[in-house]
Amino acid sequence: MTEEISYPVINEELCKGCKRCIIGCPQNAIFLSEDMNDAGYQFAYYSGNGCTGCKDCYFTCPEPLALEVHQYKKIVNDEVGRMIKAKVANKGGK
Ligand code: SF4
Ligand code: SF4
Repeated sequence: MTEEISYPVINEELCKGCKRCIIGCPQNAIFLSEDMNDAGYQFAYYSGNGCTGCKDCYFTCPEPLALEVHQYKKIVNDEVGRMIKAKVANKGGK
């Protein structure tokens, strides 16, 4: 079975907490951490659910390498797809 799984990966140490990705995400799937990174910025994180892979967050982020959108276009093994989804949900997308 073919399935598409997408999720953002945010490098919390490169994020400056500008919130552009949070405001820009049409799925409201990105939030701002209450914790701070080593540079003293609150950082964005993925909720773990809802990403459709539209990449709006990627194109609005002004910080190079702070945010990527990962996409698995073809999942032929359902068990592998479930494992990836569980891993993303458990890590909150980090
Ligand atoms: S790719 Fe789109 S839906 Fe997914 S987190 Fe980014 S803005 Fe939201
Ligand atoms: S747009 Fe980039 S720098 Fe701004 S909060 Fe999101 S990940 Fe961080």
